[in-house]
Amino acid sequence: MSAAGGKRKCVFLDRDGIVNERTYPGYIERWEDFRMLAPFPDVLRKVRAMGYVAVIITNQRGVGLGSMTQEAVDRIHANLRAQLKKEHGVELLDIICCPHLCDACSCRKPQPGMLLDAARRHGLDLSASWMIGDNESDVEAGRRAGCRTVLVAEAPADTVATICLPSMEELAVRIEDILAE
Ligand SMILES: [Mg+2]
Repeated sequence: MSAAGGKRKCVFLDRDGIVNERTYPGYIERWEDFRMLAPFPDVLRKVRAMGYVAVIITNQRGVGLGSMTQEAVDRIHANLRAQLKKEHGVELLDIICCPHLCDACSCRKPQPGMLLDAARRHGLDLSASWMIGDNESDVEAGRRAGCRTVLVAEAPADTVATICLPSMEELAVRIEDILAE
């Protein structure tokens, strides 16, 4: 599918549970504790090869709670981008983070604010884009932004996702077919 008006098509990716292992309880506060999921670089490479840019969209309310600083989050994201580029030769267009504590902002997923902001900032065609996440709040944010959606979850409850897959391994196998639709 070609993007309208010269705008780029994008795959928005949730972070925890898609890019890296989730941690319970608490938040990932240091790069040393950031464990990339093995299929992620492969997924990202295929996304880029299919002509999509990639943007990570992440809620990090640990910042709002005061349990970690914005600087710590920024450092992790700088390291992530550097590692993806150096070790895997793939690039992210952007990483957008909502640090807010409660749902009163317009950016914390399931609100679509971060996707809308990315679209404005980077000239993205939301209707030609996808949001991939491991929570229904990711799916909801993508849907509200006008994107198609993939939920990666082993035993999903009711979902409005366009496509549901059980694992990141399965996503790596299917992503090219999905994006070609
Ligand atoms: Mg997640």
